[in-house]
Parts: sequence; C-alpha cells; structure tokens
Amino acid sequence: MFKYEENPGYRMNDLTFLKEMEALSGQNISACYQCYRCTAGCPVVTQMDIFPHGIIRYIILGEREKVLKAKAIWTCVQCITCSVRCPNDIDIAHVFDTIRKVAIKEQKAAETDTWTFDKIFLDSVARHGRLHEIEAILRFKVEKKNLFEDAKMGIGMLLKGRMGIFPHSVRDREQLKEIFKKCSQ
Ligand code: SF4
Ligand code: SF4
Repeated sequence: MFKYEENPGYRMNDLTFLKEMEALSGQNISACYQCYRCTAGCPVVTQMDIFPHGIIRYIILGEREKVLKAKAIWTCVQCITCSVRCPNDIDIAHVFDTIRKVAIKEQKAAETDTWTFDKIFLDSVARHGRLHEIEAILRFKVEKKNLFEDAKMGIGMLLKGRMGIFPHSVRDREQLKEIFKKCSQ
C-alpha cells in the first residue's frame, strides 16, 4: 500500500482551494476527468493563457495563485458552451465567474476592465430595463480615465443614429426592481 510518509518526494494536493471553490460555486469540480470538451467548444480559447480544462485542473491541484491571476477568466465571455458540453454537469462558466469574484476580493485580478464593464452594464439594465449605451460608455471611460480615446467614433455613431442620447426605458420599472432584488438575494 502506498504511504506518503515513505515517499517524501510525493506532493499531496492541497485540497483547501478546491473545497473553497466548490463551496462558493456550488459545483462538483472534483468530478472533472479532463475530457477537454469544455476547451474544445470554447469560442475564445485561442486568446486564453490557460485553457478552461486547465483552470479546472489547477483548481483541483490547489494552484490558487495561478488560477486567481489567470487572464483566461477575464477573456471568458460567459457563453456557457463549456457548461453545456461538460459530461459531468460542471457549470464551468459559473466557476469562472466565482474565480473572478475571489480574484477581485483578494486584489489578484489580472485585469479589471471586464469586471468594471459588467457592473456598469448591469446597473444600466437595472435602472432602464435595457442598456443605455451612451451612459454606459461614458461611465466606463470615466472609470478608465480615457474619456477622449474613441471620441471620434462615438460622435460618428451618434450622428448616424446608432446610439441614442436618451435611454429607452421599459414601462414597468417596479417589476424590474423586483427581479433585480430577487437576483441579488
Ligand atoms: S468538460 Fe467537464 S469533465 Fe471535461 S475537462 Fe471540462 S470540466 Fe472536465
Ligand atoms: S463560458 Fe467562457 S470558458 Fe466557457 S466556453 Fe464560453 S467563453 Fe469559453
């Protein structure tokens, strides 16, 4: 029988990170058997520094720093193709989103633009029922402190009517508030 104490060179996985991610995401990550189906279906895999099956593997191996600092979790566009394809029903997209939250909380995020845009986007939808593009873009630009970078293109789009100055809000905003309230519980 294999005994760790008789094999000092053998490194046992630290399961703390795996358990933490499973608890936070509600996913049975340890069920992954590295079939690569998630990676094979991902539309942005060529832009990732670590592929989706690799992120899952690193979680299982307890490679906390590698996972939290990965650019791949920010490259992910949350299309959920990987989650649908996983034969073990692991919602990989949700795991990625969970990693983002932990990375932001611990200030280890490789980049935060996606997170900033997500917050602004949802805030706009919560208030109007749909995205008010010009407001969201301006808020994003102010956060990034590069207000004039795409000004020419933005003015062109406004003049051609591709973006409206005023929001087109939905009628029943009370119902909208209720939906957001339920989602944040
Ligand atoms: S599809 Fe599921 S089981 Fe296959 S490698 Fe990805 S996470 Fe693991
Ligand atoms: S949810 Fe993210 S990781 Fe999964 S297939 Fe889509 S882009 Fe790739």
